[in-house]
Amino acid sequence: MAFLFNDFTAEERNLLLAALLHDIGKFWQRTQDEPMRRIVSENYRAFYEARNHSSPGHQDWSAYFCETFVKIREVTNAVINHHGPSERLHYFVSAGDCLSAGERLDIAEEKGGEIRQLVSILSCIELDGLRSKKAYYKKLVPLGEYCVPEEEPSPNPKQGYKELWDAFIKAFNSIQNFDDPVELTKLYSILEEYTFNIPSAYYYSMPDISLWAHLKTAAAIAFALYRELEGKPNQHVISKLDSIIRRPSAVEEDLFCLVKGDISGIQDFVYDTKMDGATKALRGKSFYLSYLMTVIPKYILKKERLPITNLLYSGGGHFYLIMHGRFLQKLDEYQKELDGLFLDAHHGELALLLKGVTLKPADFRVKDGKLPEKFEELGKLLQEEKNRKFYSILKEDQKMVFGPFKEKGEPCPHCGNPVKEDECPFCRSFERLGENLIKKKFLVEEWKEKSERQKGSIEKVEDIFKRLGVSVEFTDEALEKDYSFAVKREEWDFKKCCGYMKIPVGMKLDQKGNIITFDEISDSAKGIKVWGVLRGDVDNLGRIFREGLGQNRSFARIMTLSQEMAQFFGPSLERMLNRLGSCDKSHSYENCAVIYAGGDDFFLVGPWDAMPYVAEEIKKEFYRYTGHNPAITVSMAFDIAPDKKFPLYRVAQTAGENLENAKHFKDPVRKKEKNCFAFAGVPIGWEDFDKFKDVKEKLFKALDELKVSRSLLGIIYRVCREYEVSANEDGKMFRSWRLFYYVARLKERNKKAEDILDKLIYLLIEKGNKLYKYAFQSARWAEFETRK
Ligand SMILES: [Zn+2]
Repeated sequence: MAFLFNDFTAEERNLLLAALLHDIGKFWQRTQDEPMRRIVSENYRAFYEARNHSSPGHQDWSAYFCETFVKIREVTNAVINHHGPSERLHYFVSAGDCLSAGERLDIAEEKGGEIRQLVSILSCIELDGLRSKKAYYKKLVPLGEYCVPEEEPSPNPKQGYKELWDAFIKAFNSIQNFDDPVELTKLYSILEEYTFNIPSAYYYSMPDISLWAHLKTAAAIAFALYRELEGKPNQHVISKLDSIIRRPSAVEEDLFCLVKGDISGIQDFVYDTKMDGATKALRGKSFYLSYLMTVIPKYILKKERLPITNLLYSGGGHFYLIMHGRFLQKLDEYQKELDGLFLDAHHGELALLLKGVTLKPADFRVKDGKLPEKFEELGKLLQEEKNRKFYSILKEDQKMVFGPFKEKGEPCPHCGNPVKEDECPFCRSFERLGENLIKKKFLVEEWKEKSERQKGSIEKVEDIFKRLGVSVEFTDEALEKDYSFAVKREEWDFKKCCGYMKIPVGMKLDQKGNIITFDEISDSAKGIKVWGVLRGDVDNLGRIFREGLGQNRSFARIMTLSQEMAQFFGPSLERMLNRLGSCDKSHSYENCAVIYAGGDDFFLVGPWDAMPYVAEEIKKEFYRYTGHNPAITVSMAFDIAPDKKFPLYRVAQTAGENLENAKHFKDPVRKKEKNCFAFAGVPIGWEDFDKFKDVKEKLFKALDELKVSRSLLGIIYRVCREYEVSANEDGKMFRSWRLFYYVARLKERNKKAEDILDKLIYLLIEKGNKLYKYAFQSARWAEFETRK
């Protein structure tokens, strides 16, 4: 989703276009279109010969692109001169380019002749001496066509580039007017879609930085500099930019700031919902949080007159902005304004904290730059600030925070807003939001000017957006004049919409077209009729960013990593569920829903029996996605509702605690932490999962298909207890023969089950007279699945 402030000047528009398109020629060059090369050669001979080159470079191709498709002379000029600036605009583009890459590299890839694909950055991460055995290659496809990277490069990258380029040009040609912020937003989305999976340059040892990450960060830096140096004499501006380009390490001024916004209280807010209509409300509330994390930064960017490129990341309950240095002084003002809004809307249940740190050009250096540390410092600042929520308002008006609130009528037990005619309009509006999201095709944003912004009271979720200057509507038709976003990528028609939502939106509809309820989810489960939850996140995320990037810590590389993570823990999870559902009918995967996925974590609900299998699939798919990288792992926690009407927030909370415990779980045998699956509170290393599942499946078969007496379960439980006692008491022998004895009697009674029971015994009693360590959990799992 993207966006540019209104009333931008021609120079600002040109800066945005030139910065976003300065390297687009690299993409075009790789199609190796010979007739086109001749045209560019003829048209730009004077330029490349002046650089002592014998053939056109990427800047010539970029310039020719702008000349042909954008047709704004200043943009073409800035693009062709981005390696040798001579005017103000060129200098801004050039400085953005340099700081994004972290260093000035003028090695021309075009000389090598060989064209290459993007290497998956996840396959290049190294942590604690662990890494992928080899580099994996990203397929030459648009962003929305999620693919796992491949072991071998494509045999014909030229063809891949050509197909991608043709699709890009077709989309680009739908842009009619470069003065329309809606159309510029479309341009941003199209660039993201088609340059996400191609490399920015080959001249690093590994081409693992995406062109998109480079274009976006170059534009963001250029714009932040533009704002910071605004109002300064032209000569001063040029000499400052010139020194940044020549020796960034020598420029010790805080020209930028990095800002993080973080929401707290998510858990209580999302999961504390009355269970009637809970699925809709859940979808609505989790969407609201993700969406708010784009609306708030857009609101700030609009007021500060910066484009959407400066929203670096949004998801997982937080966002990052890169701003001009002077912005830091305004942060308190924004904090106060947002505190007021959140108190009005959520009475203290949710809070948004904003923090910023300064950045200087030296921080952007490749090897000894400080960007990962700066991101970390921000996280720490926010952590410290968590108990100072609403401080800005507390200082002045204690009544605002502690009440009494001016409510008329009974407060709603879930959100505290007044109930009207037995219904809470505020809670109801989240259900409606969820329903719209599932059923409608487009989300349309209409951004108001300051004078038109509504102050009024907050009765429904739309009023919150209105306070931030945007009215939001769901429709079945895209509206060309406003910012229309397709809810699903399949509905993205670039003639009408300016992008598509990258947030999970699905939830199953029943035959009548109603959204599936928790009762229906529960009834579709195998065995006990309840629902379950699955939560998870990436292990050691902070260290992956801080230490995993090794020698190249450039801004563009950090952003590539963050975008790759977000791509997996986003709508891709929904697609994975659909795929699983279509090839495996043994569980009702179609009734599972990704309630929330952002950044590096996720939360799913569904029939309980499907959850461990979904967990296994996510783990396997993530391993494929990272190029089988053992340095990047994911831990998860799965919990079962004791009853289908049990409050969701309690199960969600338990799962959250279990996930936290699992993260600190050090198996005495494996001697390592994390990388595990917490099964109802018991952390099981992923390397043990196959056997764990195998024991359960054999038990299931014995009990369900072969009708072995359920007393088998009781025997296993008893043996587990005895084993524990014998382990705690010195000299006491584990009497494993008792299990053999009982099972022998079961075999006598049920000849058909002999084979499976023998296999079970073999799995349960391990070498050295030891009981299989997860025997109890496996038996519980089988018991629940077979209980009628
Ligand atoms: Zn309510």
